[in-house]
Amino acid sequence: MHCRSMSEYDVVVIGGGAAGLSAALVLTRARRRVLVVDSGAPRNAPAAHMHGFLSRDGAAPGELLAIGREEVKGYGGEIADEVVASLRRDGSRFRVQFADDRPVWARRLLIATGLRDELPEIPGLRQRWARDVLHCPYCHGYEVRDRRLGVLGGGPMTAHYTQLIRQWADDVVLLTPSGSLTEAQQEELTATNPCRPSPALPYLHRARVRLLTRRTFRAPPPSVF
Ligand SMILES: Cc1cc2nc3c(=O)[nH]c(=O)nc-3n(C[C@H](O)[C@H](O)[C@H](O)COP(=O)(O)OP(=O)(O)OC[C@H]3O[C@@H](n4cnc5c(N)ncnc54)[C@H](O)[C@@H]3O)c2cc1C
Repeated sequence: MHCRSMSEYDVVVIGGGAAGLSAALVLTRARRRVLVVDSGAPRNAPAAHMHGFLSRDGAAPGELLAIGREEVKGYGGEIADEVVASLRRDGSRFRVQFADDRPVWARRLLIATGLRDELPEIPGLRQRWARDVLHCPYCHGYEVRDRRLGVLGGGPMTAHYTQLIRQWADDVVLLTPSGSLTEAQQEELTATNPCRPSPALPYLHRARVRLLTRRTFRAPPPSVF
């Protein structure tokens, strides 16, 4: 008979955000021995509140995770606040090594390490991320509704995304490199709404939006998607 050591688990879940903790809850309830390893940097950490999540609308992101951790622990799941540095096959198991070199073993791995946002290299943008530079209108659009809103454009979906933002405000300023919209897109945007495409990339610094052309908005949009 194979005796399991304390550092051997049925499943090691790497990442203890909403996804990893949900998986761990189901697995612990299925009477699996589960360890969740989490480095404590969920994607929405910079946001003060989360929205659109039934039963927790307006809660701090950390609150959901704290409740989730307690639920997982309630069924015998373990949580390690560690970074997984490497993984390796070890016979029929996986060797999971933490950044401090400590290993644990798992019969199965569940990777729930989330996404990392790659922000455009616009000075000032990173500092305002999740405060007034917002990633998703469905999560945070309602809180800035009916204000003047900016859209940082430049990608293939810019025109579509700008139209979408009009659901939350009538006054929308599109900040996009010149030439990034087709004539048809420009006509569509300006014909159907007061949206004003601007000619160049913005330069965000403190609360001001400047164009690289040196033209400065007198009243920059207070929030940008
Ligand atoms: C600014 C912002 C605001 C948002 N607001 C909302 C909102 O209001 N409503 C909403 O529904 N959604 C919102 N989202 C989306 C939401 O954050 C994600 O959908 C959610 O976080 C995804 O959960 P996840 O578990 O997949 O990943 P994450 O929450 O990112 O969790 C992944 C976890 O894995 C850990 N991890 C990564 N690598 C390792 C490793 N090597 N070892 C150990 N642990 C590791 C990380 O530290 C992290 O804790 C927002 C996103 C952003 C960026």
